[in-house]
Amino acid sequence: MHMGQPDLPELTHDCSRCAALCCVAYPFDKGAEFALDKDTDAPCPKLNSAHGCSIHDGLVQQGFTGCVAYSCAGAGQRVTQELFDGESWQDDPDLLRHMTHALRVVRPIHEALLILQEALNIPMPDDLRARCHAMMAALCPQDATSIWDFEEPEVQEALAEVPNFIPLLAPYVDMRA
Ligand code: SF4
Repeated sequence: MHMGQPDLPELTHDCSRCAALCCVAYPFDKGAEFALDKDTDAPCPKLNSAHGCSIHDGLVQQGFTGCVAYSCAGAGQRVTQELFDGESWQDDPDLLRHMTHALRVVRPIHEALLILQEALNIPMPDDLRARCHAMMAALCPQDATSIWDFEEPEVQEALAEVPNFIPLLAPYVDMRA
């Protein structure tokens, strides 16, 4: 059976449709990239009450280059809109840990899809292209409405396969590009 490239979710972030999940989910240490310490699942103190960053226009000047460099690859708005129907932990604090857990599960899947999408530009043999498409399909569970859909073994096994697959493409990369 020939398997083509599956329909992909949005793979670029749209913070306007997200509940500022990355500003809550991840810890950071005070240092070159962040100007303060923050724990996992603790809202950044620079967040305002509308999921916005109160220092967004001055992130670099205020020592938050780590935030500028970050992207969730579209996982944030997907979790917020598709898995939580646009709800927010700011309105219902009980949702906080469920939403941040979902971001931590979906983000690596979206990053893997970005890598595989880019890899498809390499002129690889048909068997490798088919394997790439199969991994992408597995990483796009149909009609996903719950984080459990992304935690299924088929999805997680495909995610684990990506780092083993990419080096197989090395012989086909055009070094003149
Ligand atoms: S998780 Fe993604 S979409 Fe949400 S605020 Fe962070 S970068 Fe933006």
